[in-house]
Amino acid sequence: MKKPKNVAMIGAGIAGIAAALRLRKQGLEVTVFEANEKLGGKMAEVIGNGFRFDRGPTVLTKPEYVEELFSLFGKSASDYWKHKPVDPIFKYFFEDGTVINSSRNREQFADEIAEKTADSKESIFKFLDDVEKTHHLTDEVFLQRSLHQFKNYLDWPTARGILNFGKVDVFRSMNTANQKRFKDQKVIDIFNRYASYNGSNPYWAPATLNVIAHYEITLGTYFSEGGIYTIIDALKKLAIEQGITFRSNTPVKEIIYSGNTVTGVRTDSGQEPFDVVVSNIDVYNTYKQLLPEFKAPKRFLEQPRSSSVIVFYWGIQREFPELGLHNMFLTDDAKAEYQHLFELNKPYHDPTIHMTISSKMNASDAPAGCENWAALISVPHDSGQDWDEWIAEARKNVLAKLSRILNTDVEKLIVFEDILDPRKVNVETNAAFGAVFGNASNSMFSAFLRHPNFSPKIENLFFCGGTAHPGPGIPLCLLSAKIASELIAEKFVSRQSK
Ligand SMILES: Cc1cc2nc3c(=O)[nH]c(=O)nc-3n(C[C@H](O)[C@H](O)[C@H](O)COP(=O)(O)OP(=O)(O)OC[C@H]3O[C@@H](n4cnc5c(N)ncnc54)[C@H](O)[C@@H]3O)c2cc1C
Repeated sequence: MKKPKNVAMIGAGIAGIAAALRLRKQGLEVTVFEANEKLGGKMAEVIGNGFRFDRGPTVLTKPEYVEELFSLFGKSASDYWKHKPVDPIFKYFFEDGTVINSSRNREQFADEIAEKTADSKESIFKFLDDVEKTHHLTDEVFLQRSLHQFKNYLDWPTARGILNFGKVDVFRSMNTANQKRFKDQKVIDIFNRYASYNGSNPYWAPATLNVIAHYEITLGTYFSEGGIYTIIDALKKLAIEQGITFRSNTPVKEIIYSGNTVTGVRTDSGQEPFDVVVSNIDVYNTYKQLLPEFKAPKRFLEQPRSSSVIVFYWGIQREFPELGLHNMFLTDDAKAEYQHLFELNKPYHDPTIHMTISSKMNASDAPAGCENWAALISVPHDSGQDWDEWIAEARKNVLAKLSRILNTDVEKLIVFEDILDPRKVNVETNAAFGAVFGNASNSMFSAFLRHPNFSPKIENLFFCGGTAHPGPGIPLCLLSAKIASELIAEKFVSRQSK
């Protein structure tokens, strides 16, 4: 088969832009179709009344995956984008007045735990060592390559991963594992809450997901100077320099195929021929909206959905020296909170609040003497609930909790407000059911039930982004872009040599 000449990328989320760059590096002509005016999808920002907020992600890990995209073209990432380490990482606030700082410095973090909880320094060292081992056993097999290609099961890294399946703690839940490890409920709650990073439930999700703590604490958390959107700006600049075409305000309406091979896409301007199509949009909506006549693979599409979010973006006319960049106000009953989210399908009255204040690192994000609070709570995905009522309720509960813990009437300090909810996540980024993270990772088979980075049925159709393998979050989206572009390279190079 001849090498493809042109590729249509549907969606300019982080994975779409990254995959476009990688395909451009292979010498292909790449056109990126984006439904919105601005690129970046969930990595958007909110600006108003002198405040700037990151609308979506705020916790940045594995920045080297972003840097790698610049090195592909012989460029230095630092000429385009600046970032720096964050330490302390999180400040955890409990209702009884305890405040625990997590730190990349193991000694310091372990000291903090030993001083403020019933757990020992050794329990933290052991936990961090164990999740590091999990990382080494899972990274290459489960994250760096396709899980859906037979040949990938025949080599040593995969064989080793499979032989060590039991060692990566897949057979018990995060909560069961953490209950065994730690004595203090505060410590258990701190580590259990990493399940929320991909919209899952720590009482169901396999303990393998404790590995997320390794990314955040040991490998480290970073701050993107000027906000997370500067990553998108930097990648866009690089992409335009490399000759990638972006078509904003141009939603793709249909993927065109003939027989079982992709032939192009249709927008409002008509059909356009492409040799390869890559979908960076929600996998569910790729099938439902863009391939309406095609029999969708139920196995991948009918998995339980991740949770979603309500985020309050508040301009606050005061500074709080006791707060940091990342603050977590924990619920008093995590079990009840997750039961509400995943079984009762409604928000909990005492929610865990992740509050990011980027003005702590980026002074221009708030006027002098003010702070920009992005207060995020987990909520169920959208299944037609009365969100207006629930937002009002959540606002009351979040304000009451923050006011209680900070000993101040927070509502009186709000001078700017914007709100994100599951309906808006859907409208703004075309996320099915407003589920921020696609499928939940609540079973030990979840990794295998995410959609592959290629279509098993339609030739030359590929997938990248948070709803495809290996999953959501900036680092995994960047890996999905890498895997999809490698599959495209492999397919055409091997076909050519036959
Ligand atoms: C509130 C929030 C907090 C988060 N926190 C973190 C965090 O701290 N750390 C982290 O790593 N991750 C976090 N995430 C997750 C992370 O943001 C996502 O996993 C990631 O950005 C998804 O990128 P993507 O490539 O899948 O594309 P998306 O961001 O989903 O973008 C898809 C793009 O496709 C476009 N599109 C849709 N349909 C069409 C169409 N028919 N034609 C053309 N274009 C179309 C959309 O407009 C959109 O721009 C968070 C997400 C949210 C919402």
